[in-house]
Amino acid sequence: MTHRTILLLSVCRGVLPWAPHRVIVSQVPLGSIPRWGAHGGTPLQISTIVFLFLLVGLTAAQTQAQPRTKESPTFTVGTATAVRGQKATGTIDVPAGSDAALSIPVAVFHGARPGPVLALVSGAHGTEYASIIALEKMIGMLDPAEISGTVIIVPLVNIPSFEQKVPHLNPVDRKNMNRMYPGKMDGTQTDRASFLITKQVVEQSDHLIDLHGGDTDESLRTYSYWTKTGNEKQDQISREMVLAFGLDHIIISTERPKDPQASRYLENTATTRGKPSITVEAGHAGTVEADDVSALTSGCLNVMRYLKMLPGTATMIEHPVWIDRVVPLASEQTGMFYPLVRRGAFVGQGMKVGYVTDYLGNLIFEARAPAAGVILYICAVPSMTKGATIANVGVVAR
Ligand SMILES: [Zn+2]
Repeated sequence: MTHRTILLLSVCRGVLPWAPHRVIVSQVPLGSIPRWGAHGGTPLQISTIVFLFLLVGLTAAQTQAQPRTKESPTFTVGTATAVRGQKATGTIDVPAGSDAALSIPVAVFHGARPGPVLALVSGAHGTEYASIIALEKMIGMLDPAEISGTVIIVPLVNIPSFEQKVPHLNPVDRKNMNRMYPGKMDGTQTDRASFLITKQVVEQSDHLIDLHGGDTDESLRTYSYWTKTGNEKQDQISREMVLAFGLDHIIISTERPKDPQASRYLENTATTRGKPSITVEAGHAGTVEADDVSALTSGCLNVMRYLKMLPGTATMIEHPVWIDRVVPLASEQTGMFYPLVRRGAFVGQGMKVGYVTDYLGNLIFEARAPAAGVILYICAVPSMTKGATIANVGVVAR
């Protein structure tokens, strides 16, 4: 915001009968209310104004901590409106534009007591199955009567990818559904979906967890991302969220975009809007393994305990492996890939981690680790093209 603003207050006792002492606070430019000071005033008027300013100050602090929606008797995302203490399901309806419409399912748990709003989103990549199944399970696990605050669950953003078994992209427009945020309504399906998720999910939340995993061609070990923004308070909360989530390898992400209008990633869309948020990854190569799913569900539940949305004490992961740099290893040839190490292996710089042959079995490329570190993921299938990623090596922070 470039101009100075002042808070204008209107008392709405009676208008909001469930919250008789609440006030609505809105922002107007400072220049638009010169009359308050310009014409002087009686002592009564001045004291009234002073009182109002004090009230505004108190209310502004309260409003920042507790946006009005949280205390409302209902909470709406898309077509789902949950009343306090209940769950509702519905869809975020992306209208047709230059291509087809899309209807994204959503569940809203409006807890029995007020508290933070947490969004849980998966399936931007519709074949990262473990994360999608984890959120399906979360919908069955949560009881709104036990929740303080509100939980928005979007388990499957990229339905075309899921249905057509297309990894990485939305097959409708060939765009990555975790790269087009904050989105726009005059774009293709991915742009429009991203825009509506920004408006309906991100902007209504205080925190967001974006769940991913290894895609069908990625043998990935579990890890999470902690985005360091430079805003100390926000970073401290997101750091505690990532420790509460409990995955033992954490990538420190410092190079994500800073501009909320060019946020690209979902988590980054929340982070650049001042909402402490994290990204987590579990699952690999098309599998739905119980360990991966439970790592994700227990991580979400433990973050909810940390945020005081569920009773109980959050346990934090102790001494995780912090990774401060991810170095990709790309293939210099098209051919058949053979891995020599498994996901999670520690490798030395220069160690041979795999090789590529031509289609007749002749060696054409030796893949060597570009740095010492942990194999965060390695290609899970023989298909390999020139320039494609063979592995990501995470360099352990010192
Ligand atoms: Zn993903």
